[in-house]
Amino acid sequence: MTRAEPDSRTISLIMALRAAGIVDTGVLGAIERTPRHVFVEAGFLDRAYENRALPISCGQTISQPFVVAKMTEALCLTPRSKVLEVGTGSGYQSAVLSHLCRRVYTIERYRTLHEVAKKRFEALGLRNITTRLGDGCLGWPEQNGFDRILLTAGALECPPDVLGQLRDGGLLVLPMGPPEQQFITVIRRDGDDFHAHRGEQVRFVPLVAGIAKAI
Ligand code: SAH
Repeated sequence: MTRAEPDSRTISLIMALRAAGIVDTGVLGAIERTPRHVFVEAGFLDRAYENRALPISCGQTISQPFVVAKMTEALCLTPRSKVLEVGTGSGYQSAVLSHLCRRVYTIERYRTLHEVAKKRFEALGLRNITTRLGDGCLGWPEQNGFDRILLTAGALECPPDVLGQLRDGGLLVLPMGPPEQQFITVIRRDGDDFHAHRGEQVRFVPLVAGIAKAI
């Protein structure tokens, strides 16, 4: 299959990410292949390829491409990785991950976001993404034993059920800390030990336990 040449907006975004220090060519390639305009709200189409977070429905946000790239780099994915994502949101981050790993399991607590994202994955033919409406604080127990886990909502600490579903030697990435002091944090599991490393300062919407009632 031949791949379409990236358009000028995509090229500018990739250049902005390189200038901001993203070096992983696999990650840059996955971002290049992911049409961000498909994941933003209609009113923000003209800003889809800017390196910034944008509002989506249910009061949530589609993450800044730089942060998506940083977190994806930190996951050190391989084509064999089985990945859990907590916080599907627009589905953009899941789509980027799907190009770099074997399978993505993604959970969202808002029905609207879950359903819209699922349709986007189908439309783009991203068949290695499995979606679920549910509480990501509980993880995905039936698939226990993830090589990589990514939380895309901020928390003071990683929910224990999620941590417990990381396989030995696996990596988990989350925005950790109070809202004003959140850092991309990488946790590596070594048997029953968990080692954490702190990276870039970020600002994410909060991780909230339970399925959203209204929408
Ligand atoms: N990865 C997303 C980022 C969306 S913002 C993207 O690329 O667009 C974070 C998302 O996490 C929000 O949609 C929010 O509803 C969701 N979220 C927060 N707490 C959650 C929980 N306990 N379970 C599942 N999703 C959750």
